[in-house]
Amino acid sequence: MIEYSNGIHIKDTLFWLDARKKSEFSFISHAHIDHVARHREILATEETRALYEHRLGKIKAITLGYNVPKKVKGVKVELFPSGHILGSAQILLDIFGTKIVYTGDFKLRKSLTARRGEVKKCDILIMESTFGLPRYVFPPVEEIYHKITDFVEKGLNQKKVPVILAYSLGKAQEAIKLLGDKGFKLSLHGAIYSLAKIYEEFGVKFKNYEPYEHGNLKDKVLISPPWSRRHKMVDELPHKKIAFLSGWGMDNGAKYSYNVDEVFPLSDHADFKELLEYAKESNPEKIYVVHGFKEFVEHLKKLGFDAEELKKGTKFDKGFSKEILLNYDLFR
Ligand SMILES: [Zn+2]
Repeated sequence: MIEYSNGIHIKDTLFWLDARKKSEFSFISHAHIDHVARHREILATEETRALYEHRLGKIKAITLGYNVPKKVKGVKVELFPSGHILGSAQILLDIFGTKIVYTGDFKLRKSLTARRGEVKKCDILIMESTFGLPRYVFPPVEEIYHKITDFVEKGLNQKKVPVILAYSLGKAQEAIKLLGDKGFKLSLHGAIYSLAKIYEEFGVKFKNYEPYEHGNLKDKVLISPPWSRRHKMVDELPHKKIAFLSGWGMDNGAKYSYNVDEVFPLSDHADFKELLEYAKESNPEKIYVVHGFKEFVEHLKKLGFDAEELKKGTKFDKGFSKEILLNYDLFR
């Protein structure tokens, strides 16, 4: 029923889920580059389609809103929020009465720029587990916001340029929303600026920002992608204080590994507690784990779940009869 090879394939249907190689038809959970490929046709939210096209060009797409069940390519599906970035969605597929949920990247905590993640009951759960170790339990998000704001304020008071390193899609927009709304003047790296414009097209409102301009950073906060740490734009700034926003900030010595002054664990992903909470709430018969630590599977087993890592060669069949398959109009 489920096959894994460069993405997840729901057997006997046209559905690929976040296929990593070109396919005829794939659901795209969100527009991060490790979840997209140039497919012939995609299923996604309007927001994900727009972000995808911004990055990869025009695409034939079936778009769906959140929580609107619909038959697509002969399969009953429903997209619902995953709380990860703008437009990110989970998918619920109903295959002959068996409910399969694929989470894509998700979180259940609040976000400033994405709809809050939801949980649905299902029979088979395919879930991400990026932070699937007990040491990855993030502090309350308000506490992290406070620390980031404090860092920026102190930097400005010391006549330094606060630099916030954040992934250009998703995390950077969280930083813009947090800091711009508090009245800080923001200078944005070009990639972050153009993605923020797409967020605005979909109703997210940002304040106090402009595109980066060389030599014009007085009293401003620079928001820039992590790779720019080594670029002269950041590296050659004379007076600066650099913070990186990442869940990996929970690791000891993270600020030394990333060569920054602070790493604040602001993440777009579920932490260990949320991953377990998700599994309990959706209460599936079978859990497949993708993108993460193998050890997370053992944690799920201890809680009594039938869990397995989804990797190349994994095949799972519920044994539907040929007759049902033939009578089911899958390819309409
Ligand atoms: Zn992602």
